[in-house]
Amino acid sequence: MPLNRLTLHGQLIGMFIEFVLLSMALAERINLERDQRIAAQQLALETSRSLADEREQHLQAKQQALLIQQRANEELETRVVARTKALEDVRHGLELANAELLRLSSTDPLTHLANRRQFDQLLEDEVRRGRRNGTPLTVLLGDIDHFKRVNDSYGHPFGDECLRRVAAVLQQHCQRAGDLAARYGGEEFVITLPATGGPQAVLLAERMRQDVERLELDCDGERVSLTISFGVATLDPQAAASPLELLSAADRALYEAKRSGRNCVVEAADLGSDGATVFA
Ligand code: GH3
Ligand code: MG
Ligand code: MG
Repeated sequence: MPLNRLTLHGQLIGMFIEFVLLSMALAERINLERDQRIAAQQLALETSRSLADEREQHLQAKQQALLIQQRANEELETRVVARTKALEDVRHGLELANAELLRLSSTDPLTHLANRRQFDQLLEDEVRRGRRNGTPLTVLLGDIDHFKRVNDSYGHPFGDECLRRVAAVLQQHCQRAGDLAARYGGEEFVITLPATGGPQAVLLAERMRQDVERLELDCDGERVSLTISFGVATLDPQAAASPLELLSAADRALYEAKRSGRNCVVEAADLGSDGATVFA
């Protein structure tokens, strides 16, 4: 092999070329990897950006749902309050209607006194209460005298007016708590006087009788007078008599008052006996 520069430095030149080629390949490789890393980083950035966007959208949707829920709750609450108020109004109305029904079912429409039904219930209670408290119970049975004649002479409407006026007189005298004046039926009235003995009740009946007698009734300019008779019966707390027997005793005394000439008060002497005392 000839000895010249080429053959002398051939190996060196080869090594140099190899070095340059290797360096270029390495640089190429580094560049490629860097591009790939940058691309990967960009991808990661974009992914995280889109994730953040998604999270933001999710959050907004959640807030929106919360707002809708809140509005729905408020609306529901308003409706519940309105419905509760409506129910309360209905309940109150029913209570008033029930009270009115009770009042109507226990009141006499003509005189506005208690009716027979209320009296019957009350009498049982008062008999029991009197026995419990050891106090007497007195019943007055009043019946307008010759009332048929009033109706026949002056007409039924005037008769009604008379019943109202007599009822008002009886009511006026029932001022104590527990006293009750009731329309017993027709032109008959009954008065319950708890914790009242015979003598006191007779005095009261006598005052009622006088006030009915003094009533100023006028029918088309004509002065009309009325009278009333009373039967009085007292139940002692120790007596075993029933409410019905008490009423029967008062009725017997009333019959006696009618028999004695009317416009008077008769007290039944004793429950179960026939004896009676006539007053006035
Ligand atoms: P006595 O003195 O014996 O009680 O005689 P009286 O006429 O009062 O008794 P009677 O039982 O014969 O007649 C009662 C009358 O009472 C007959 C009836 O027309 C009348 N009457 C009963 N209820 C009402 C009413 O609601 N209104 C009117 N106007 N009259 C009534
Ligand atoms: Mg009568
Ligand atoms: Mg009668």
